[in-house]
Amino acid sequence: MKEPFVIAIDGTSASGKSTNARLVARALGWVYADTGAMYRTLAWYCRNHRIEVQDARAVAAACRKWKTKLACVETDGLRVARLFIEGYFPEKEIRTAEVSAAVPHVAAIPKVREWMVKRQRECLQFGNLVMEGRDIGTNVFPETDFKFYLDAKLEERSRRRAADGVRENLAARDQRDSQRAVAPLMIPLGAKVINNSNLTSGQTSGLIIAEVRKRLAEK
Ligand code: C5P
Repeated sequence: MKEPFVIAIDGTSASGKSTNARLVARALGWVYADTGAMYRTLAWYCRNHRIEVQDARAVAAACRKWKTKLACVETDGLRVARLFIEGYFPEKEIRTAEVSAAVPHVAAIPKVREWMVKRQRECLQFGNLVMEGRDIGTNVFPETDFKFYLDAKLEERSRRRAADGVRENLAARDQRDSQRAVAPLMIPLGAKVINNSNLTSGQTSGLIIAEVRKRLAEK
């Protein structure tokens, strides 16, 4: 395996993927990429343009035409890969309960996933990556040696989401993500599974960083 390297962090909703991926990226000085934000941006865009998210043809057509740009920006000393739509990144708007409920529909459309996977692989232009999502180790970068799968008890994940001020049915979203036909959420082959119900983010990210450093030393 040659550089750029990719750490793939997959897992259930609110299992701590974002927090830990950011901590790992910061510790290693790698670029952080949140693929959920990309799917969320499309769901938000569809809602704004009155495109029914269950209308696969209309969503796929919108995805072919929308004016996006992939860029690497620095925020709080962390380099982050972001998908901008018409020069704008809807950071807050994509975190609402409405967008969370709409996004699994958009994410189940094969043409949408094809488009997203291309953009996600293009993130390699920014250097070594810590990329989080649902299919990074299985589908986007199946060749990487650094695969992690995070999970936690449903009550704990619901508690974390509520602490962020968002009430949503996480079990329903996980079920949709796990049961879709294309690139469903599953544990990637060779992934290290971390159940962090009783771990702090410092402990979870520490496990990931230690494992990555060990494997890098073996290369
Ligand atoms: O990670 P986050 O909760 O922001 O993801 C939002 C949704 O985007 C997921 O529930 C899933 O439907 C979709 N997603 C996906 N594949 C990814 C990342 C996110 O299908 N790689």
